[in-house]
Amino acid sequence: MRAIDYERPTTLEAAIAVYSSGGTSARYIAGGTTLYDLMKLGVEKPTHLIDITSITNLERIETEGDVLRFGSMALMSDVAETVTVRTEYPLLSESLLKAASQQLRNMATVGGNLLQRTRCPYFRAGQGVYPCNKRQPGSGCAAIGGMDRGQAILGASDACNAVSPGDWPVALTALDATVEIMGTRGHRSFPLAELYRLPEETPQTEHSLDGGDIITAITIPKTAAGRASTYHKIRDRESFAFALASAAVAIEIEEAVVRDVRIALGGVATMPWRARQAESVIVGRTLTRELAVEAGRAAFQDARPGRHNRFKIDLGVQVVADALMIAAGRNVR
Ligand SMILES: Cc1cc2nc3c(=O)[nH]c(=O)nc-3n(C[C@H](O)[C@H](O)[C@H](O)COP(=O)(O)OP(=O)(O)OC[C@H]3O[C@@H](n4cnc5c(N)ncnc54)[C@H](O)[C@@H]3O)c2cc1C
Repeated sequence: MRAIDYERPTTLEAAIAVYSSGGTSARYIAGGTTLYDLMKLGVEKPTHLIDITSITNLERIETEGDVLRFGSMALMSDVAETVTVRTEYPLLSESLLKAASQQLRNMATVGGNLLQRTRCPYFRAGQGVYPCNKRQPGSGCAAIGGMDRGQAILGASDACNAVSPGDWPVALTALDATVEIMGTRGHRSFPLAELYRLPEETPQTEHSLDGGDIITAITIPKTAAGRASTYHKIRDRESFAFALASAAVAIEIEEAVVRDVRIALGGVATMPWRARQAESVIVGRTLTRELAVEAGRAAFQDARPGRHNRFKIDLGVQVVADALMIAAGRNVR
């Protein structure tokens, strides 16, 4: 039995102060839907749990003005059901509704979703069962050269090929989202793309937050491409499963010419993956199924499959192509 200090501060400042007293073994807890799992598995062993659910104003959803702004404590289900999100940014709504289950979405927050950890089975196995550089730096990686069917084919290193699990961060990546942070250095914000790190030689370092930083909000610049958008997710079963390959696509077509397109990939990479090479194939041209497949191939041109996950290239190409055609079908100019 391990003792755990539990506190429930009501201000950001108090939460950060409590975190500082707990050092590297402190953890914030929001919906708890993934942190408690990781504690039961022995992957996370916090000595201090800081419940941030009583901090006021972190759950606000704002859709007026030039940006969408989601407080980090907004529930996944509430954001998914917000009318503006459903109608003007279907890729956001779909990325949330295709994640987890209704019960989980009613507990889980959009901020906690950004920091969920990989579902790599070697990472989540008991301590010392398999080598895992993410869990125990320097121990090796059982997935590389092992059973790697679910592992990443983009962004992997010789140290780690664990897939980034979230759907919502993929949709946010397509829309150039920004995260707002409060920490010991005060308030700051930066692009979501800068939150995540490639595994390289240090897969245990997954994001660029300082200890004690709290994500307070996520903002998205409004774009005309949002309306013609989709989050297309393929998985082993139709619900309650993580992506084998997914694509978030938003597109703006005027007089049959693609003016703007955003493509991001999930289920295939070590972090939410913006597919800029695929975007450049399409912009300024007329979208056809053939061109959509060409864009899909461009998205995977740098893929490095292992022994059992080569299928993700063909699957991913079709997912990108299908997502482009679905999104284009919603372009009603
Ligand atoms: C069975 C199951 C199936 C799932 N399927 C999917 C799926 O298909 N797709 C998908 O995307 N997700 C899926 N999930 C993951 C789920 O979406 C996440 O568990 C959830 O979004 C996490 O949110 P939370 O508020 O519960 O986070 P918590 O568990 O409370 O926290 C997660 C992490 O984030 C940190 N944290 C939380 N909030 C903040 C903050 N504001 N600032 C700084 N740090 C913070 C915590 O310290 C912790 O490390 C699944 C989960 C389960 C259990």
